[in-house]
Order: sequence, then structure tokens, then C-alpha cells
Amino acid sequence: MSDDTTPATPAPAPVSMDNLVGLAKRRGFIFQSSEIYGGFNGFFDYGPLGAELKKNIRDCWWADMVRRRDDVVGIETSIIMHPKVWEASGHVAGFSDPLVDCKVSKQRYRADQLFWAEVVVKTLKPEHQAAFQEMTVQHGTAPALSMDYYEFKTVGYVSALESERTDAELQEKAAEFKRKKGIRGELVPFTMKDITEADFETVSLIPSPATGEPGSLTPPRAFNMMFQTNVGAMTDGSSVAYLRPETAQGMFVDFKNVVDTNRVKLPFGIAQIGKSFRNEITPRNFIFRSREFEQMEMEYFIHEDADWAKVHEEWIVWCESWLKSIGLPDSHLSRYTHPKEKLAFYSRGTVDIMFKYPFGVQELWGIAARGSYDLTQHADASGKSQEYFDEATKKKFVPHVIEPAVGVDRIFLAVLCAGYAEEAVTDDKGNTETRTVLRLSPRIAPVKVAVLPLLKNKEVLVARAQALHKKLQKRYAVFYDETAAIGRRYRRQDEIGTPWCVTIDFDTIEKPGDTFTLRDRDTMQQRRVTEAELFALLEEQVY
Ligand code: ATP
Repeated sequence: MSDDTTPATPAPAPVSMDNLVGLAKRRGFIFQSSEIYGGFNGFFDYGPLGAELKKNIRDCWWADMVRRRDDVVGIETSIIMHPKVWEASGHVAGFSDPLVDCKVSKQRYRADQLFWAEVVVKTLKPEHQAAFQEMTVQHGTAPALSMDYYEFKTVGYVSALESERTDAELQEKAAEFKRKKGIRGELVPFTMKDITEADFETVSLIPSPATGEPGSLTPPRAFNMMFQTNVGAMTDGSSVAYLRPETAQGMFVDFKNVVDTNRVKLPFGIAQIGKSFRNEITPRNFIFRSREFEQMEMEYFIHEDADWAKVHEEWIVWCESWLKSIGLPDSHLSRYTHPKEKLAFYSRGTVDIMFKYPFGVQELWGIAARGSYDLTQHADASGKSQEYFDEATKKKFVPHVIEPAVGVDRIFLAVLCAGYAEEAVTDDKGNTETRTVLRLSPRIAPVKVAVLPLLKNKEVLVARAQALHKKLQKRYAVFYDETAAIGRRYRRQDEIGTPWCVTIDFDTIEKPGDTFTLRDRDTMQQRRVTEAELFALLEEQVY
């Protein structure tokens, strides 16, 4: 067929958040929540393709984490739980982020996302200036001098919010500050810090990102991130409840129920997928940090004497390989081990799997070794034993736990970032154009196959295409499209990540074998396949 283009020149454009947000909106993956009312910060809606992609991510996780393992069971617990759950878990007292207010603009910032730097300039010490000038004239170029010849002076401070280019923004602001104030000397390179690293006096010298002037920022203060609501008719203190800020507590609170009603034996896990809510101070980076999001968490209970470090490492490896199985490349993944001194007192260790987003390397999946802390807390607060009876040793103890916790929305954003490409392609008439392609794994692609009759006014082609479409639809998310030239139709599918297009053409009808043209999204290669071969391909790749 001559309707597609020659193989692509491999020149992927750098992915920017603007490209991704543009595509997500244009093709109906993600909308702002309540958009007709101006949107609602920190909340998002998933459109038809987005809902399908998100469901596929959840389904793959559930299949691999729960159904395909003999040692993990799945549950679904309520979003609003007894308020005592959140007292016992420590969330009422401690689930807070330090935040900074700007008293003038009334803006609020998360302290760890508000960055600052000292503007320092270096100038030659007065006693060396004459000699320096003389040497410059003699050699026709300025001599390189050691630091001892210079003096360093802090002339002010600059600030910027976390973004794709925080560091660059601070550098620009420092240069602008120096120029405006007419300060002589050379800017000294700086390391940016977040505002939790500033002492009381320095905070008063750092300009507010809203006003550009110092003096209006407050020192960081704790802010509880749980959403409160009232349950029942009364709205007094006795009816206060919370929307869950994590799904994990459901697994701890139901630990005994699961042990008593299922034939589970240590080590085993309890998993769940569900919505969580956090009143994030500065929701940002699209769906990366929102106020309503979805988590996939699993609590893996182990014997108190088990080698927790070994099990922890096994789960980290499992999570990494699962991310690769849904198409995230190794090149974008890394590990961050939390330093011992920053861990909660009960924590044995936490490793985050990080992803290289366009706005920086950020946490995607946290895998924490939490000892027996959570079950013990609930045993103490409820007065109900959370011990497990070990048949082999006839001993009772509170199991320890390894917790892999990940956000569906962060995976969603990661697969868009890793899959998005713009490439130059040339058609058979020699015209070059840019194709946008979303290289999503067939496991999670919202549409698996697009069925395209070559011509819409040829009854035989349309009838065969519709029959194939109906048959595929019983098992897979497929799309039927008979409008526009075939090249345009391919392009529409590339942009939404459809791995394969099937075209029903005259050879299908006229030649023996009932074959179709199967076109591959990534290579744009075409080959002829039978219906049975198409189903075999899907069976192998969509699991
Ligand atoms: P962060 O430090 O980024 O706020 P966290 O360490 O508080 O995250 P956890 O409490 O460990 O996050 O939650 C587990 C997972 O839930 C995170 O790794 C992330 O994938 C997801 N998650 C947490 N907060 C949000 C949010 N506001 N929006 C989207 N996903 C989130």
C-alpha cells in the first residue's frame, strides 16, 4: 500500500509538559475538573481515552499483583473510615507538610517546593586591582587568578517555585537582580536550597515568588493535609471524619478479617486500588500532584524474624520489572534510598523508584519496610489483638510489613512522557511532515486495534471490516474508522497510541486467504495477516 509514509527519521523532539498537556486535552485523555466553571485546582477528569488507559493500568496491576500470585489477595475498603483509624495511624497528629504563607499576596507554598539562593558576587580585592590591570595590558588577556585574590559578598536573595527549570530561573533572577541594582563583580555559581533549609532571619530576606519582594514570607508551619467532612446530621466536633489520605490503612484495619476468613499463611499480601485525597498546598505538574488521586498499594506481611531486607529488595525488583512490563524504559527509572536519619523512627528502610519526568526526577513508587508499627498501633488503639498464630512454632506475634505504594495518575503521566514522540516522516510524494506518536505498550494502550475499510463507499469492504470489528470488540477495545484518507486515519491512531491498524482492501476480498494489511504503529511496517494471526498476536501482546 502506498498511503503511509516511509520509515521515520529517528528524531524525537524533547518532550515538554506543554506538548503532553496539549495532546491530553486535544484527544480527550484528561480535562480540568469543572472546566466550564474555570476549573478546580488539583482535580482532574479523565476523558474517554484517558479512562480506558487508566483502567488498563489498574487492570494490569491487579492481574499481576493479585490474580497471578498465590500469596496476595485483594480487597476494597471504604474511603471514609472511623476517625480513630487516623488517630492510631498518626495522620491526625502528623500528616502535615510544612507550608509558607506570603502575607502580602495571600499565596501559600509547600516549603519543600519553594527554592531560594544567595546572590553572591566576587570582586578583586582592592590591593590587587592595579597589578591585575597591568598584567592584562602586558599579556593582552586577563590572567587567571586563584580565589585568594578575590573577595566574596552576599548582595541579596532570589526565589523560585519548583518547576522544569527552577535552577535556570534562579540564575536568571540573580543576573537580573545584579543588573537592576548596578552591582559590580562576577556572579558566583550557587546551589539552590528549599526554604526548610533557611533559618528564621534568612526567611525574612528571601523575596516572595508572588511579589518579588522580601519580608512577606512566614517561616514554614505544619498544615494537616487531610480533607475533613462531617458524618450524620450534626456538624459539631463529634461528627468529624476524614477522606482517606492513603488506601493502606484499609489493609491494616482489615488484617484480622482477612486472616480469619481466608486460608492465608505468612508471608502473604493484601492489596487494594482506590481513591485517596490530600489537600496538597501547591498541586502542580498536571496530574503528578493532585488533591484527588488513585493509589495501588499492597501490604506484604512477613514473619517477625524474616529477613526483611531480602523481601524488601525482592519487592523493589518486582515493582521495577512491572513498570517495564507496561512499557516504561530502563533509561527513565532510578532508585532513591531514603537516608537513615530522615526515616520515621519505626521505619526500617524506604526505597523510591524514581521516574525522569520533564520537570525532573521524581518519586513514582515508594517501597517501605515498616516493621510492625501499623498493626501494633491499631492493636493498642482498638484494644483488639492483631497477632498472628504461627502453626509451625505455635507462637503468636505481630507480623512485620513491606509496603509498595504507587499512584495510578503518576504512572499514567510517566507512560505519556515515555511514549510521546514527534518525528519527521516522508510520504511517497516526498512531502515531509511531523507525526505525533504515543508509543504505549499494547498492554495498556486505550485502543488495541483500529479497523479501517480502505474505501467507505465500497459495500464489500465495509461489510468485511464491520464483521471483523464486531468480532474483535468482544474481547478488546477496538475502533472503527472509515472517514478520511488512510494516511490520515493512521496518523490519528498513532497520536492516541493504537499499536496496530488493520486495513480491509481489495486483496482481502479478491485474493484467496481473507488477509488484511496489518500496520505497526512504531515501525510503520505493513504486512498481510489472517484473522487467526491477528487474534494470536493480540493474545500474545495484550495480557
Ligand atoms: P510525595 O513525597 O511526592 O508527596 P509521598 O511520599 O507523600 O509523595 P506516599 O504517601 O508514599 O507519597 O504515597 C504513595 C504514592 O502515592 C506515591 O509514590 C505517589 O505515586 C502517589 N501519590 C502521593 N501523593 C500524590 C498526589 N498528591 N498526587 C498523585 N499521586 C500521589
